[in-house]
Amino acid sequence: MVLRTLLIAALFAVCQPAAASEIILPRLKPTSPVANPVLKPVLKPVLKPAPEADPPAAEADAAPPAKPKPVAIHFPGGNGGWPDDVVKAAQADCRSRLAGLDIDFEPMAPIGSEGGCGTPGAILIKAIDGVEIDPPAEANCELAEALHHWIAWSVKPVAKASLGKRLTVVHNASAYACRFRNNASSGKISEHAKANALDISTLGFSDDTSTNIKGDWSGLKRLIGTAGDSDFLARIRRDACIRFTTVLGPGSDPYHGDHFHIDLARRKNGYRICQ
Ligand SMILES: [Zn+2]
Repeated sequence: MVLRTLLIAALFAVCQPAAASEIILPRLKPTSPVANPVLKPVLKPVLKPAPEADPPAAEADAAPPAKPKPVAIHFPGGNGGWPDDVVKAAQADCRSRLAGLDIDFEPMAPIGSEGGCGTPGAILIKAIDGVEIDPPAEANCELAEALHHWIAWSVKPVAKASLGKRLTVVHNASAYACRFRNNASSGKISEHAKANALDISTLGFSDDTSTNIKGDWSGLKRLIGTAGDSDFLARIRRDACIRFTTVLGPGSDPYHGDHFHIDLARRKNGYRICQ
């Protein structure tokens, strides 16, 4: 009887309304759809990496040296089809950009003409940080500078870290070429036509092995458990998005299934394409 009384008393206490001293949490406001990034539609296919993004670990380990004074580069005479002041400015820019960089190159006379193909400040890149560019690539100096940073501070150290191999050669599938995009017969002029792009098909190592973009990118290697090269290629492709404004390769479109295309195209509002 006593036990029954106690049980009834306990039940009565549980069923009582909340005491005045209990804390009542405020009702949460509904989340605004605009403030929810998941609900935001993706309006553009281009990506613009955040400028404050941290550099890759491999690059963070190799801090760039302070920029030295411009170097003396003796370009061959002549302006080609370019105004004198444009050539002088471009060649001065080369002297500043290339100072202190480990690039083996030959200065070139201006290529092409204003309003058409070419560039007023051109060099022939033969090697970067001891890595041969085969065949040598005709490039403007802004592209040469970006290539140096990518190869010396990413491709080379990542090859060492992830494959245990020393990078010795980057195979140039296409550099300067006066043509439209994707080798079309009309349309927009290619960045290759401005000596502002490079296509890379294969990377070679000191042990006489090589990594082929076409053969080593696919998921096949992952299936059979030898995905080392695939991971390496994915990593340097991702790093390239920091250095270049366009990075295309296998999976981007039907034109880039067998090589990486990298360029420094200038777009409105600084948009980049990293696909
Ligand atoms: Zn290309």
